[in-house]
Amino acid sequence: NLSPIRRALISVSDKTGLIERAKKLVELGVELVSTGGTSKAIADAGLPVKDVSDLTNFPEMMDGRVKTLHPVVHGGLLYRRDLDTHVQAAKEHNIGAIDLLYVNLYPFEATVAAGKPFEDCIENIDIGGPAMLRAAAKNVDFVAVCTDGSDVDKVILDMEANAGATTLKTRRALSAKTYARTAAYDAAISNWYVAQIEAEALTNDEEIEAPSIRAFGGQLKQKLRYGENPHQKAAVYATPEGRPGVLSAKQIQGKELSFNNLNDTDSAYELVAEFDPADRPAVAIIKHANPCGVAVGNTALDAYKAALACDPVSAFGGIVALNCALDAQTAEAITQVFTEVVIAPGASDEAVEIFSKKKNLRLLITDALPDPKEASLNYRSIAGGMLVQERDTGRIEMSDLKVVTKRAPTEQEMKDMLFAWRVAKHVKSNCMVYAKDDSTAGLGMGLVSRVDSARLASIKAQDAAKAAGWDEPRTKGCAAASEAFIPFADGLLLAIEAGATSFIQPGGSVRDDEVIAAADAAGVAMVFTGMRHFKH
Ligand code: 5GP
Repeated sequence: NLSPIRRALISVSDKTGLIERAKKLVELGVELVSTGGTSKAIADAGLPVKDVSDLTNFPEMMDGRVKTLHPVVHGGLLYRRDLDTHVQAAKEHNIGAIDLLYVNLYPFEATVAAGKPFEDCIENIDIGGPAMLRAAAKNVDFVAVCTDGSDVDKVILDMEANAGATTLKTRRALSAKTYARTAAYDAAISNWYVAQIEAEALTNDEEIEAPSIRAFGGQLKQKLRYGENPHQKAAVYATPEGRPGVLSAKQIQGKELSFNNLNDTDSAYELVAEFDPADRPAVAIIKHANPCGVAVGNTALDAYKAALACDPVSAFGGIVALNCALDAQTAEAITQVFTEVVIAPGASDEAVEIFSKKKNLRLLITDALPDPKEASLNYRSIAGGMLVQERDTGRIEMSDLKVVTKRAPTEQEMKDMLFAWRVAKHVKSNCMVYAKDDSTAGLGMGLVSRVDSARLASIKAQDAAKAAGWDEPRTKGCAAASEAFIPFADGLLLAIEAGATSFIQPGGSVRDDEVIAAADAAGVAMVFTGMRHFKH
């Protein structure tokens, strides 16, 4: 399985570390062949190198679009050294073997990232590079293929250990890596292209038929220790959207983030970002991607305490997100409860100092909050495919609410309902959210019947009251929110039983009249949002 390296073709856009590696190869007795710029750089360093044009008998032409696209190059990369017909063809057409290929591609991704115009991006689509890479990777029994400097280092080590040859094991790993690289490269081109077309359609006010999966081929950000469970391998990819959030955060301290941490922290941050920090500080505590307490307060500490009081038992091992910078007092309070992750758009030096005593606690700081209104896509895999949808950017304001009961809500009830609604958008369906005085009072989530969620929310509120030593649960006089319409009055009646005096829901059920009548009979104020927030 050893294959000697006698001749190498090097064609690199990024010439970092090129000379040292070329020198090493020359010392190992390898003959170098190279394209224009690369060849010049190697020759300038005083190393022997042949120009690929001398092999092809063609000059590089058309602004470099055609440099290496020639049978002499591709034949040299592709012919099987153990097949008589191939060897014969090579001899007949004067094709010499190329045993090592080192190519890094035109910097397409960097050109796009730099916001360069369309034409520049097109010119940075490498054609000959990927063609050679794919050819070399295919002929794995004889050719070693490198897409970056570290690959060349591996080859050199192999050659040093094997008298100038590489092992099949190394070559196979390199081939696999190469196809991942060319696939990612083409995915980047396709994603960019679709985004161009979509952007153009948007400016021209044309309808886009369906969201594209342009984030596919996203960059591998990090391999994760494991997935949702230890027996599942996992990784996290960055999409080109680059929404601020858990992936753009700087981790100040703590253990490596796990798959579940990332997922839960994302939920926490998206939820808390619904509350404008210019208004007041907000805190959300999340467990398993569902909130177990959310509150707005005059200070971050007030908000944290109120959020924690909603369900102190579930907050154990939770994720805490703030919509404002973390201060010392809040940091101190958080350290009293076992917490996995804290994320905030900033932290005071004192707060960081306080956390440094809890070295497992992960602290994430971002430059900005995610914008709840910013368009982006949401993906989910199903057997044999992928569901793609626009992220739920729907947002209801006070002025969107339609009062449907005889009694109009009081100003406080309006505020509580809107707060409950904002939270409900981020709770798994079916949900019931009870809220009062800018704080959740009881949460029921992810159940197959809304009635069960209403019951759960009420039980949670009673448990919280018991834990805090209150005379009665905070649901007395609360607002209740249901993220989808309630099909029967039973869910409403349970909320009323729990103490709700106002109820917010999308409306639109065939039995709306029945539900409104039940609210009127109990003197409860109800508003319709006209918008649903299913979340699964
Ligand atoms: P150099 O700096 O050596 O002139 O060019 C190196 C770059 O050219 C590499 O990124 C390589 O992938 C790319 N390249 C090599 N052959 C071809 C070709 O035939 N067409 C195009 N478009 N690019 C090529």
